[in-house]
Amino acid sequence: MNSSSTAKTVLFWFSIIFLGLMLYKLYSPDSSRSGKDEISYNEFMAKVDAGEIKNVTMYLSQSSYDLWGQDAHSPNRGFHVTLFKEAAPSVTEHLREKGVQVTVKEVRSADWMLLLVNGMPLLLLVGFCLFLLQRMKGGSWRTAQAGSSKTQTGIGYDLHRLEEGRPLIVGGIELPFDRGPVGHSDGDVLAHALCDALLGAAGLGDIGTHFPDTDPQWKGANSLLFLEHAKKLLTDKNFTIEHVDAVVITEKPKLGPHFPKMREALAKALGVSSDKIHLKAKTNEGVDAIGRGEAIAAHVVATLSSR
Ligand SMILES: [Zn+2]
Repeated sequence: MNSSSTAKTVLFWFSIIFLGLMLYKLYSPDSSRSGKDEISYNEFMAKVDAGEIKNVTMYLSQSSYDLWGQDAHSPNRGFHVTLFKEAAPSVTEHLREKGVQVTVKEVRSADWMLLLVNGMPLLLLVGFCLFLLQRMKGGSWRTAQAGSSKTQTGIGYDLHRLEEGRPLIVGGIELPFDRGPVGHSDGDVLAHALCDALLGAAGLGDIGTHFPDTDPQWKGANSLLFLEHAKKLLTDKNFTIEHVDAVVITEKPKLGPHFPKMREALAKALGVSSDKIHLKAKTNEGVDAIGRGEAIAAHVVATLSSR
């Protein structure tokens, strides 16, 4: 489950719980919000004297003393009046003389609940506004879901011949070895295959389109520059690099120990975290040109998502 669907689930359950709380507050027997009429103190007492009110609940809070009288004939209907604190004892006594059942309740402990329930519409409104805001920013759940369906993948392959006395650069890192790739630029097979995979995934052609080997400005160029440029092209098209998986095939030297540095260098050039870059090494089991140590090759698959 991704983070957006988790957030969605959490919000859903919050809404359900708050809806439940509101309904409970509306329909619970202690409810003081439904079917009640505001009346004056005199009217209230007149109803008591007339025997129209048999049950009274007195809510004692810091701010007010409230009387809720229940209609003797219609239990769902009631009457409300606010008292002076000083009047409460004599009123209670009078009610008891009239045979009215008086229940006294402290509402202080439930104040936060009342506040919460009464503030619910506002809370929901604020939540909804935040949701809309997020949508407008393009980070909405729907967009995120649609975004995942707009994931694009590209494949890249490169091979360079190896010759003695040339520096061996793979993944932006120079490795200690007696042979190195022949190429117009620095001959970094991994960077070239990665560049092709990224451009392919974005539908932007290939490395030759953007960095022709006939152009003198790329002679001996650091191939990480190609990646930096590719990254700019992706950003312009609103693509995000989600994952890169690569295999580098060479008989020698061992590449594994250099992978952490390569991942770091590639990630830096692409402006992503290095955990998005996955590297693997293979030999060619001694067969063909690669197996004879005459060449080095790389395969890369890159996954992009579009915002
Ligand atoms: Zn190349």
